[in-house]
Amino acid sequence: MASDEDVFSHLSSRPDYLLGPMITVDEPANLCTLARHPGPSSLGRLDPLSLEILHEILYLLDIKSLSRLSRVSHRGRATVESLPIYRTLMKCVPDTLKALGQTRLLRFYTANQLRAVLRTKDCVICGKFGPFVFLPTAERCCYYCQLYHKRFRMISIPRAQTIHNLERRELNRLNVLNTIPGVYKTQVVKKWRRLRLVTYDAASKLAKAKVAEERARNKSSAPIPGTNITTFGAPAGATNDGLDSENLMLACCMMPWPDSDDSDLSPQNNEFGGMSSIQFPYLRPDNVLEHGHLCKGCEWVYSHYESKDLPDSVLYDLELGSEYQVSHALQEKSLRVMVKSEFLTHVAECYGAQKLLALLDTEGQRK
Ligand SMILES: [Zn+2]
Ligand SMILES: [Zn+2]
Repeated sequence: MASDEDVFSHLSSRPDYLLGPMITVDEPANLCTLARHPGPSSLGRLDPLSLEILHEILYLLDIKSLSRLSRVSHRGRATVESLPIYRTLMKCVPDTLKALGQTRLLRFYTANQLRAVLRTKDCVICGKFGPFVFLPTAERCCYYCQLYHKRFRMISIPRAQTIHNLERRELNRLNVLNTIPGVYKTQVVKKWRRLRLVTYDAASKLAKAKVAEERARNKSSAPIPGTNITTFGAPAGATNDGLDSENLMLACCMMPWPDSDDSDLSPQNNEFGGMSSIQFPYLRPDNVLEHGHLCKGCEWVYSHYESKDLPDSVLYDLELGSEYQVSHALQEKSLRVMVKSEFLTHVAECYGAQKLLALLDTEGQRK
């Protein structure tokens, strides 16, 4: 009977090799590198406030503002670094903070928001463990969903202008992600190019809200179904005679995604797939970080199926459907990342894992 330690050392691999199309950071953010000195230091007009009051204020700031404050003065640095939530992020996800800075998304999130994501475990689409975060929306996701689900599809600003008849200044109101030259290992996009990307979803909603606004302004009697500004929650006081930009953005956020995929981009044509995501651990209630485990047994099953070396009885037991679906399903299983507890349960039921453990036993007996 293999111990848990044996199971992890022989059957688990880290999901690192999935990271090819994603953002990887060689030198994560660290606590401010200003040299400490013993002299007086000031926060200007904030000086009279107690540390407790300052912390209450800092909780409301976005991370970019926190970072700036930490560079104002030594007291500013000490105040920010004493904020428990900031220390948690610097300890657990310094690479994500660096990536958010490099992609110019840092100003869109508070430390509290990021910590909340750190405490969640599951992909927002499929509900299985999601070892990555999609930076434009800070949503946790799994490998498959971040590559293939339309919610995570990105398009360039020029393409969004063409498809949705939007102007650049309008698209600049969205969470625009600047790609980071040199960090993508498997992308066809040239490494030195810096691209500005938005989610297809957000651009589409913005275009629909713009049409709705124009129709409202023209006092059209036939609004587009589901896009009438009164149905997607324009704030009190807004009138059909025109929404200001703030209300327009609120309207965009609240507009439901249409049931049909009304894009001319197919899921296969997701040329920027992965480029907006980064590995993001899960912080368990007992404060242990989990990056997740891939099952070598599932990899073994997939490779033996591809080389036509897997008994039919095994496939029959797996109940995977037609031949195309079998290959797809086995590949998906081999790329499924699990947290520790899920992994141990899985190994007990995984044909490939049990096969590998049996081989290990046999080799041990020979020695
Ligand atoms: Zn998923
Ligand atoms: Zn397995």
